[in-house]
Amino acid sequence: MLSLLVATALFQQNPNADAILAMRKKGLTELGAYSMLDELTSKIGGRVSGSPEAAKAVLWVVKKLEQMGAENVQQMPCMVPHWVRGKGERATLNTVHPLSITALGGSVGTPKGGIDAELVEVQSLKEAEELGERGKGKIVFFNRPFDPTLPQTFAAYGGANDQRVGGATAAAKSGAVAVLVRSMTLAKDDAPHTGAMRYGDGPKIPAAALGIQSAEMLSAAIKKGGAKVKLVLNCQNLPDVPSANVLGEIKGSEKPDEVIVMGGHLDSWDTGKGAHDDGAGVTQAMEALRLMRALNLKPKRTIRVVAWMNEENGGRGAKAYAEYAKTAKEKHFAAMESDSGGFMPRAFGISEDKLEKAKAWLPLLQDFGIEKFVAGGGDADNGPLGAVGAILCALQPDNQRYFDYHHARTDTIDKVNPRELEMGALAMASLAWLLSEDGDSLK
Ligand SMILES: [Zn+2]
Repeated sequence: MLSLLVATALFQQNPNADAILAMRKKGLTELGAYSMLDELTSKIGGRVSGSPEAAKAVLWVVKKLEQMGAENVQQMPCMVPHWVRGKGERATLNTVHPLSITALGGSVGTPKGGIDAELVEVQSLKEAEELGERGKGKIVFFNRPFDPTLPQTFAAYGGANDQRVGGATAAAKSGAVAVLVRSMTLAKDDAPHTGAMRYGDGPKIPAAALGIQSAEMLSAAIKKGGAKVKLVLNCQNLPDVPSANVLGEIKGSEKPDEVIVMGGHLDSWDTGKGAHDDGAGVTQAMEALRLMRALNLKPKRTIRVVAWMNEENGGRGAKAYAEYAKTAKEKHFAAMESDSGGFMPRAFGISEDKLEKAKAWLPLLQDFGIEKFVAGGGDADNGPLGAVGAILCALQPDNQRYFDYHHARTDTIDKVNPRELEMGALAMASLAWLLSEDGDSLK
């Protein structure tokens, strides 16, 4: 960290300090990211790709961008998967103990009347594949927890979510009839966390997530012997449907054909309201543009908001945008994403070759909690734009609470702090502004 005096002096000398200070004052007074997120989560709610709510959310972003005076507001069409949860999903242990479960996104449903089977607990995909006869006709229960000793929860997630994504395929190889997967969280509550799963070749068996308390109860019952679960899932995969990314921008005054993209994903899971994941990222980017418009700031390069569709279970919006970028006449100078929750900012990931030079901007970002730049910056939606030469940037907020709510019914607006969310919006607005005005300093 720079000393306060040095940082203040560097801030004041910088030609971009006035714009950033003006955005800070307006943003922290009005807290626009939060009021937009409140509206999105309360009026529309969870927004699974292909759902009526996702379609409403597209129109909502269009309207908001138009209201704030964004230019070239438009939908960029893409086809998306259409998975529906259905009603009445449930599971019961030994006919009397209800288990807290929710179907994983992409799962097939159970046959009518459900599945009734004995349980076998495993810790890994390999163990499930090697069950052989012991897996036949059983429900395989994946119970490897997050590694709590890792300071970064994203690393813990990365070390466990192969069970969610590939558990059903692995268990089916041993003749299992369904899988239950310990939720991808360190929280101690019983809210199950959904998320995408994928089938490989071979039979498609139903898959559901278990709340942590239910997972512990199930594991204890299996150890005692004679654990049986009845599982009912009414989800199904329907044909793809049309959907869209939403775009809006401020045209650059000097280099209109050099574009800085910033955004998050508009789709979410249906269990909660998609507040942290990723209503936060979408509304932060919208707020950044709103502040620039309201203050009549005129960036040299074009600054564009993109609300990407279908990050959760297909990435079709990111693919559609990347396809567009490949043949577009404009140059994608940078692409920024916020998809790690609306918590207090800590850092920006940035393309490794820009890391050292970007550090000169830290004095202008420290007010918003940005302590450092780290190598990286490519996330699910902006990442593909690295192929067209965009500088990749990703907002990294504090991550200790993210997986408490991620893909669960607890991902609601009351878990979002209005000032912390705005700090992220201001960090994005400031970095977008610096990329626009002073981006050549990274060359
Ligand atoms: Zn997300």
